[in-house]
This record gives sequence, structure tokens and C-alpha cells, in this order.
Amino acid sequence: MEPFDIEVPWSEIIGWRVECACGWRGTTWRREEAVNDDPDAEDVFPEHMLLPDGSTLEDAGEQEWSHHVRPLAATEDVRAAARTLGAAAAALDAAVMEARESDPPATWEQIGRAAGITRQSAHDRWAGKVEE
Ligand SMILES: [Zn+2]
Repeated sequence: MEPFDIEVPWSEIIGWRVECACGWRGTTWRREEAVNDDPDAEDVFPEHMLLPDGSTLEDAGEQEWSHHVRPLAATEDVRAAARTLGAAAAALDAAVMEARESDPPATWEQIGRAAGITRQSAHDRWAGKVEE
């Protein structure tokens, strides 16, 4: 996150806006909307530029940015659960193949019961993968 890491001469500043690599753009604050809390400062920093509501540009930009990326953070748990589910499915496939290759092989009835599904469902799901 580096929304304000650009140096631009004061005379060229027309406003401020936080943008994202995905194309999202936050509110554009025009230069005349913000006042420097240190009028003698030569440089303009977002943490010193006050908006009419009293917040700084830095805080306002960070708040919008956080709101924008919050859903991405929330999907981390979904991503982790999907990974776990994929690994569990692969382990289940491997266990079924092992059971079918044992001597004597487990029946589809036994495998279905162990997996909590019917004999037919077990056969439909794994027969093509195991018996080729
Ligand atoms: Zn984005």
C-alpha cells in the first residue's frame, strides 16, 4: 500500500485520490478542499492536509483503501478452506484406490459405507478412476 508515494510540485497538484492496481479509484479530493495544517511548510504531506470534516487526507485515503480491500481479506478463509477441501478430496481418492487394490479388494458396498454414501454412489464416483 503506497497510495501517496509520489512527489509532485505543489503548483502541479490538482487533487488527491487513492487508486488500486485492480482499477478501483477512491474519492477525488480537489486541492481547494484541503488546507495544510502547517501553512509555513514547504512540502505538502497527506498527514498534514486537512479536509473540511477535520480528517487528514492520509486518514481519509487509508479509510477508503481499507474499505476497498476488506472483502479480499475476508476471502482468505474461503481460500484456505478450499485448499483444505481439495487436499481432503485427493486423500479420499487415494484411500479408495488403496482399498480397491488391497487383497482382497474392498467392495463398493464397504467403501460406500465407510464414506457415508451408497454403494452405487461410491461406484459412480470412483470406479472410473480405479479400474482402468
Ligand atoms: Zn483493488
